[in-house]
Amino acid sequence: MEEASKRALVIGGGIAGIQASLDLADMGIHVDLIEKKPCIGGKMAQLDKTFPTNDCSICILAPKLSECYRNLNITLYSYSEVQKVEGIVGNFSVEILKHARYVKEDLCINCGLCVEKCPMRVEDEFDRQLRKRRAIYMYYLQGVPAIMTIDKKNCLWFTKEACRICEKNCEKEAIDFNQKDELIKINNIGSIIVATGYNLIEDIDNDILKNYGYQKYRNVVTALEFERMLSASGPQEGHIKRISDGEEPKKIAYLQCIGSRTDRGAKYCSSICCMYTTKEAMIAHEHDNELESYIFYIDMRAGGKGFQSFLRRGEAEYDIKYIKSKIAEISIDKNESPIIVYEDLDTSEIKKLKVDIVVLATCIIPPEGIVKLAEVIGFELDDYNFIKTPPFSPVKTSRDGIFTCGCVHEPMDIPRSVAEGSSAAARAAEIIRGG
Ligand SMILES: Cc1cc2nc3c(=O)[nH]c(=O)nc-3n(C[C@H](O)[C@H](O)[C@H](O)COP(=O)(O)OP(=O)(O)OC[C@H]3O[C@@H](n4cnc5c(N)ncnc54)[C@H](O)[C@@H]3O)c2cc1C
Repeated sequence: MEEASKRALVIGGGIAGIQASLDLADMGIHVDLIEKKPCIGGKMAQLDKTFPTNDCSICILAPKLSECYRNLNITLYSYSEVQKVEGIVGNFSVEILKHARYVKEDLCINCGLCVEKCPMRVEDEFDRQLRKRRAIYMYYLQGVPAIMTIDKKNCLWFTKEACRICEKNCEKEAIDFNQKDELIKINNIGSIIVATGYNLIEDIDNDILKNYGYQKYRNVVTALEFERMLSASGPQEGHIKRISDGEEPKKIAYLQCIGSRTDRGAKYCSSICCMYTTKEAMIAHEHDNELESYIFYIDMRAGGKGFQSFLRRGEAEYDIKYIKSKIAEISIDKNESPIIVYEDLDTSEIKKLKVDIVVLATCIIPPEGIVKLAEVIGFELDDYNFIKTPPFSPVKTSRDGIFTCGCVHEPMDIPRSVAEGSSAAARAAEIIRGG
């Protein structure tokens, strides 16, 4: 009897994992794509526009999301995590824990009635706590799969044995409070790709950000929060407003290298911030062409094709002022407008600038849970806990048959994450097709 064809396992449904899955599926290889959040998309889904073209992020991503969902060669396990990996290259077995959504995936049609009726309002993780969502929710508007999830720790039924309003209002009878987490075993996996992306320094350590007034002053926000503020589907519906008073800003300052290239935070360069800061300043300027933008930087690291001219365009067409500087202190005036005290490194003078909003370009760090995943799968991490890869085989891990792509092994932008997704797919296919 002919042996069943080998499959590929991709862990992480951000742009890198999505690209790897689509390429493998196109080669006729079956892919099991595991995503721990309720929907795939990763950080790219949270961005408003993307450099270097400043195209709408979700417009590029959405067709790939639905292709992942519809492709018959891809089985998507969302809200799931890998628990155990056994076997050797060419023949791994994997155990997956699929968390209960308390919503039947085959019945929910994402009509939104349950969300409308749910009385609980909780912080929205996708919108970086800038607005509230309900205890039953869609992870984000364009999310795939388009299925609701009940957040057990905030649902009144699970916390107080009261409510069940969503169940009463669901015409499809899709709510199932008795649903249990499920253990799923997948055999016959030829190769595994780890694409679990990144977190940001504020996700684990706010102490460094506190030095810049974050969470002390309402008009100091992080760059990812600012992406959500810029986004038409975000908490401010695409109209940039100060958090403190809802006023439109006239001056915005962007501070680079927050938590990176420092002994107090991460010692490495976060690599993408020089570019996305200029992008955010450009997009904000497109919202209001009288807006003044100031970028405070240590040095500019824009090493990609066309990147330097992107910065020059920022200066020439968007009137962005680049200030080579060291930030000394941030305080606020009586209107909660941040005042930046800095050393101008061109003149060695100490200067002050009052703005309406400060945006902190915070450092990329390895994703939550990577140490455990490294133990489960058996690959090595580097000194910072990114996946260790050799210099001339950037998608290869220390374990045979296990590849990686995207920010989980070092900070990188979307074009490179996509290129690495394709590269990891090709390496996995070599094993699966090569036998
Ligand atoms: C503020 C900001 C602005 C940016 N702007 C741009 C831009 O304009 N242009 C550009 O090119 N780049 C930009 N980037 C960089 C871009 O976000 C990354 O290049 C890209 O998201 C990397 O994709 P990824 O798939 O490696 O990681 P992610 O997007 O982080 O995706 C990883 C996925 O893996 C999932 N996951 C994590 N752990 C597990 C696990 N244990 N099991 C299963 N799934 C797991 C996550 O939930 C997530 O869905 C920006 C970044 C920031 C912070």
